[in-house]
Amino acid sequence: MATAAQIGKTSKENGDWLSTACILCALNCGVKVQLSADGRSIARTRGDESHPASKGYLCNKASRLNYYQDRANRLQSPMRRSPDGSYEEVAWETAIREIAAKLTAVRDAHGGESIFYYGGGGQGNHLPGAYASTSIGPLGVKYRSNALAQEKTGEFWVADRMFGGWPHGDFEQAQVVVFLGKNPWQSHGLHRARAAIREIAKDPERTLIVIDPKRTESADLADIHLAVKPARDAWLLAGMAATIVQEGLANEAWLAGHASGVAEVENTLEGIDIADCATKSGIDEAVIRSTARLVAAASSVAVLEDLGVQMNRHSTLVSYLQRLIWTLTGHFGRPGTHYIAKGLGRISDGREGGVSPVAGGRLIAGLVPCNLITSEILTDHPKRYRAMLIESANPVHSLADSAGWRQAMRALECSVVIDVAMTETALEADYVLPATTQFEKAEATFFNFEFPDNYFHLRHPLFTPPDGPLDEAEIHMRLAEAMGAVPEGLEAELSQALADGKRPAFGAMLMSKMAEQPSIAPILPGLLYRTLGPSLPDGLRNSAVLWGLCQRFAAANAEAVAAAGLEPTGDELFNAILEAPSGLVVTRQDWPAVWQRLPGGKVELALPDLLTATAKLNAEQPAEASPEYPFLLSAGERRSFTANTILRNPEWRRKDPQGALFINPEDAARLNLGEGSSARISTQSGSQDVVVAVNDRMQRGHVSLPNGLGVNYPNGDGDQPPIVGAAPNELTWSELRDEYVGTPWHKSVPARVEAI
Ligand code: SF4
Repeated sequence: MATAAQIGKTSKENGDWLSTACILCALNCGVKVQLSADGRSIARTRGDESHPASKGYLCNKASRLNYYQDRANRLQSPMRRSPDGSYEEVAWETAIREIAAKLTAVRDAHGGESIFYYGGGGQGNHLPGAYASTSIGPLGVKYRSNALAQEKTGEFWVADRMFGGWPHGDFEQAQVVVFLGKNPWQSHGLHRARAAIREIAKDPERTLIVIDPKRTESADLADIHLAVKPARDAWLLAGMAATIVQEGLANEAWLAGHASGVAEVENTLEGIDIADCATKSGIDEAVIRSTARLVAAASSVAVLEDLGVQMNRHSTLVSYLQRLIWTLTGHFGRPGTHYIAKGLGRISDGREGGVSPVAGGRLIAGLVPCNLITSEILTDHPKRYRAMLIESANPVHSLADSAGWRQAMRALECSVVIDVAMTETALEADYVLPATTQFEKAEATFFNFEFPDNYFHLRHPLFTPPDGPLDEAEIHMRLAEAMGAVPEGLEAELSQALADGKRPAFGAMLMSKMAEQPSIAPILPGLLYRTLGPSLPDGLRNSAVLWGLCQRFAAANAEAVAAAGLEPTGDELFNAILEAPSGLVVTRQDWPAVWQRLPGGKVELALPDLLTATAKLNAEQPAEASPEYPFLLSAGERRSFTANTILRNPEWRRKDPQGALFINPEDAARLNLGEGSSARISTQSGSQDVVVAVNDRMQRGHVSLPNGLGVNYPNGDGDQPPIVGAAPNELTWSELRDEYVGTPWHKSVPARVEAI
């Protein structure tokens, strides 16, 4: 139902529109919604013109947001798994007490490094991760991961080593825009994606290049579509980079002042056989060369890479090669090229540090490669993970090797899932703790990479949660209390300080308590929720953790915050965020500031390990498919009605209801498959029965299945109707991964297709 402040004025009839955001992709476009007359569901949506980034734009998916909020069989009580595999409701006190006892027992016997934390946020649900230290800190949890470690860590790692941060393209101003393994028409990735692509396409002064094996909707609008062979992007990009060097197209004057390691890179690229790159990539050598010349001659170029290459062969190397192309030609640090944004979150961290305890996988931003997690559970290694806390994530469905994940979950001594639904992962856990939805508490957008104006959006809740579910912050705090990690009387002391002296006295006491007892630092977020939270405007309690973030951010970025027209103090920044239900600009920067962010003020071009890999490309003989598995499956394609698994009701999809297997017409004819026929797709990992859609956008030998299908959705009686669509990760396996950061090759899974 609507929150107390909104009841009586939010119904469809009286026409009030409330501000929130779409949570179906990382852009989190601003949305205005009208609630139903009973205040229990979202009745209408439209774009929020006041949102600083999306400015009223929405794609087709936002109109289906109510399928997230208004669901059958809402999880309302903690659930405990019984020995027979069924689940029983238990009281919060029981669940918290038992979980705390089990997790501390694992910690005491094997150390906090044996307890794994996964998740912490989805595409719009980011604050749980900010509160998680409240419980995982006292447990001494050392290893964690989330979806970034199966998508972005390769790119972040490369970017961090080259730029000290993650460069983003200035697509609004670029003369040449390149989408690499990216179909923004369906998967977005830049604000107002469809409008932006159309604007580029119709401007005769601008050029749109799409590199994708499939003729996507974005490719339809492109000036140049490079239909690279599936999984062969590395050769195409190496050929382009080599063309730039071998034809003398590098911007040597710019490089001399702005980059280091140039000679090493040029020496390597001088040795690349471009004709061989053409043969292996499937793109004519003349086209490779002409495209490279176009990039070199352009006044500005911006490139956007995404999962089509990041979840594919040579993914980290591809992230490097595409950056070499636009840095060799000087397309960084000026309008229309690439910048490093300054936002409140640091989601694009690419710093390397340490390795995972069993397999020795490289940790980027502290994240264990997702494809290694099950192997670090299903082992008798003394350092294996023995317990797991998972929140706002569904790894059994969304990570490689679902069968392995089910086995791993059952092998744990204790597994706990915090979520709004009995997901595929929850159904394997010992305990499931019900959380409030993203529209029942304050939540925030953290994927903010805009420039020169960078925004932040704290979403106000739309609904009062039902009895039962709790905010993740409260769950973490209760666990911390049950573990004895919260000093007695501390919460009351802080609350009193806030009541007596407002935030200055509160902040001073917090600092003094931290100085006295540094061990309380991890529980600080939970303490803020309990103490500062109740003092915040109605419904915004969950935003309390942002107060601490704002203090640090304003102190470190006072000039940029002031340039945005805000008082550059933590409190004023926090207040401004609370008072802007459609979001606000929090920093304003200029192009010279981008250069200040680079270590030493220069781009580091030479990454020795990746240069060595580049030099070996011509000797490599790609053989992704085989006679037994002749197709390459793109597992998890973004389509007009796909989202992650937070949308579980299959009725949300207006098109492609079964999540069909897309297959080239010639392949379909050869296999005797017609439109709407049934087929079985098999890999070395498993089989799924699918509906066929004959699609001339697909290359021969390349098939695709969408993401987000194959999830359970019990009806109102608790019965489970047949599951709709194929779960992609029933077909993938963990060893199919990048050699540097372990990201999966979901976009080129060897597969066999047969009529059934
Ligand atoms: S682009 Fe579409 S799916 Fe993504 S946030 Fe905006 S409306 Fe939602």
